[in-house]
Amino acid sequence: MTAHIIDGKAVAAKIRGEQKERILRMQAAHGVTPGLAVILVGEDPASQVYVRNKITACREVGIRSELIKLPATASQAEVLKRIDELNADKGIHGILVQLPLPKQVDVHAVLEHIDFHKDVDGFHLYNVGGLITGHTVFPPCTPYGVQKLLEHEKINVEGLNVVVVGASNIVGKPMALMLMQQDATVCICHKKTRDLAQFTTLADILVVAAGVPGLIQPQMVKPGAVVIDVGINRLPDGRIVGDVDFEGVSKKASAITPVPGGVGPMTIAMLLFNTVESAERSVAA
Ligand code: NAP
Repeated sequence: MTAHIIDGKAVAAKIRGEQKERILRMQAAHGVTPGLAVILVGEDPASQVYVRNKITACREVGIRSELIKLPATASQAEVLKRIDELNADKGIHGILVQLPLPKQVDVHAVLEHIDFHKDVDGFHLYNVGGLITGHTVFPPCTPYGVQKLLEHEKINVEGLNVVVVGASNIVGKPMALMLMQQDATVCICHKKTRDLAQFTTLADILVVAAGVPGLIQPQMVKPGAVVIDVGINRLPDGRIVGDVDFEGVSKKASAITPVPGGVGPMTIAMLLFNTVESAERSVAA
């Protein structure tokens, strides 16, 4: 078997195009342009690249973005004060705080300070809790991107065995909750899971978000499984790879996401989606 390659780049481009159209319609009907504020504290080089990419993506679809740069020495009170201002700003529909934050700033205090109606990253406790009850305002962008990819591939997860490898707060755990909401039977594995293959071989859908290159080998995958590789790892030779042995596993799976070009482009697309959604809700309200 040779797996169908799930083209995240193409799906993300389609979603971005749809957001462009939604924005044009909103501007024509209500004179409203969605606004996203990005708070960047400090000079972390990777964070600067991520923020730049998000701002470029906003510009391309017509979202107005505002970058608030604070020094690495900024106090928690300063960060919270900027969030207060953005919470009150009617022209801002989404607020994103780029992580990680410097040590003196408590990440939980910052995330909980964002008005959850503007929490387009989906990290506020309300949105996290809402994943359990099905009342989240914004699902977090990476698992939401995976969900959209599965929808695009017309894969109905109801009743399927899904194994999520990785249990982080931003990917693994919300992913598992979102799939449970859709009536999949979900198992979450992590570093302390004994005999990972015992679980992964049961998966009709295997979602891997561990940050370990080559973690998933062909013998760990059920023939015909759908494999979603969230991992992004830079090898010493500079290559970017996922967590799955793509070459080997793509001979066994029925469908697989590549890295790069799979889940990665979907994350930013869903950030744009959430921001446009927020603006539309504010218009409707
Ligand atoms: P993280 O916070 O480091 O969490 C990694 C999770 O994987 C943890 O739950 C950890 O278990 C588990 N894990 C680590 N080694 C394992 C192993 N050998 N076997 C089983 N589980 C293992 O990472 P993250 O933020 O969730 O990100 C995971 C990967 O996805 C990274 O490569 C990251 O770059 C990538 N990522 C991609 C996107 C995207 O847009 N495509 C977005 C976010 C992240 P413990 O809980 O026991 O420590």
